[in-house]
Amino acid sequence: MKQREANGKLIEQLKERMRALPAMDTLLAQEWVEEWNTELGRGTVKSLFSEMLAQIRRDILEDKRFDTSREAINERALKIFRRESRRKLRPVVNATGVVIHTNMGRSCLSEEAVEAVKGISASYSTLEYDLEAGARGSRNSLIESLLCRATGAEAAIVVNNNAAAVVLCLSALARGREVIVSRGELVEIGGSFRIPDIMEFSGAKLVEVGTTNRTHNKDYKNAITSETAMLLKVHPSNFRIEGFTASVPREELAAIAHDSGLPLMEDAGSGLLLDCGTLGLEGEDTVRRSLEDGADLVTFSGDKMLGGPQIGAIVGKKSIVDKLRGAQILRALRVDKMTLAAFEATLRIYLRGDSSKIPVINMLTRTDDELKAKAEAFAGALREKFGERAKFNVIRVDDAVGGGSYPAKALDGWGVAVTSHGFADGTTGSLAAALRVGEIPVVAGARDNALVFHVRTLLAGDEARIIKAMESI
Ligand SMILES: *Cc1c(COP(=O)(O)O)cnc(C)c1O
Repeated sequence: MKQREANGKLIEQLKERMRALPAMDTLLAQEWVEEWNTELGRGTVKSLFSEMLAQIRRDILEDKRFDTSREAINERALKIFRRESRRKLRPVVNATGVVIHTNMGRSCLSEEAVEAVKGISASYSTLEYDLEAGARGSRNSLIESLLCRATGAEAAIVVNNNAAAVVLCLSALARGREVIVSRGELVEIGGSFRIPDIMEFSGAKLVEVGTTNRTHNKDYKNAITSETAMLLKVHPSNFRIEGFTASVPREELAAIAHDSGLPLMEDAGSGLLLDCGTLGLEGEDTVRRSLEDGADLVTFSGDKMLGGPQIGAIVGKKSIVDKLRGAQILRALRVDKMTLAAFEATLRIYLRGDSSKIPVINMLTRTDDELKAKAEAFAGALREKFGERAKFNVIRVDDAVGGGSYPAKALDGWGVAVTSHGFADGTTGSLAAALRVGEIPVVAGARDNALVFHVRTLLAGDEARIIKAMESI
């Protein structure tokens, strides 16, 4: 009897709290809401209020205790509106030292590329219009001559990304036939790109040869049959097999393919246009080199080491590239005008030998002295601002190329470590979290329990942005 009475009382209380909630019309009619109607649109404001009220009702039903006064509800709504009004896709300060950071948009475009995008996106353009002929042109061959000059290829085509480039090549040239790949190159890149799966999707039959660590000349030779469409070489972008290894050099592979009248295709991954020696890196070949060594078709990304927009380039022999032009699937993989504008501007920078204008190249070629000086200047500015609240030490850090390029190679870098600080609750984790969710999001590295700002990947003005972000914590 007592229990039932108590339950009845609780239900009455819950009902009372529900009834006390402001009605939707009351909420919408408040003066302060008008500004948000303008900012977000009436429909959005109404939906957000409605979702919020539904959540509050659920919380009341679970007998959660919280303030349901009008002020508290308005405050809660204001937070939701503020969050909603923030752009979903927005700039982030990358203080991780990972240059081609896949989760943060890979490469940053050069100023020229950005200008080119601005110039093209708000206007009509020559995207598919041949001015001389006064007739339809082709977006796929718009910048073909530039790509050919930058790589030494006879012909070129561009698509949405490198994964699309590989799919196009395989489906147009090897559907229903066999493609020979070394077991050491059956890579998975970032979970969504696996050579065996791409092969299956393209309708080509994968013929694996060799073993994970060793593949020989004869392995390829023995696998060639009348069903073979091509030999494929894949850049093992994000891993290295070390120790007892063997692979067939590209020239030899090309000779094996050509002796049987087959093409050699190479998925080069990153697409170096510059000799990596000039970047202080070793062991990677340029696209030009791949072609000179005998690859008939080379595919690569635009937004990895190349430092341009997301694009997939296919370069090689004209007779082979021409076979791709009529493929139905090309229509589904086509590149947008903003991307083409950015890619053209990026290629032009390379062609005039001005590659330090490309942020990725610039970040990779910063000298040790430059990086150290940058870290010292930044530490000085931080001490001046927050010397009372934390310790800032210049330290050596390991940076990385990222983007599945040079996995085995850490780049020597410099950073600023933040220790014994009084931001947030004083822990490294809380400071890192507060920096990520601020008005200007900052993503930093960490080492030995200290938060570390790697200076290699900071763009102009990023130091000031970090200081501003810390001020607001
Ligand atoms: C990165 C990479 C890809 C995928 O390129 P996207 O431009 O991301 O589509 C394919 N193959 C290799 C070897 C890669 O390194």
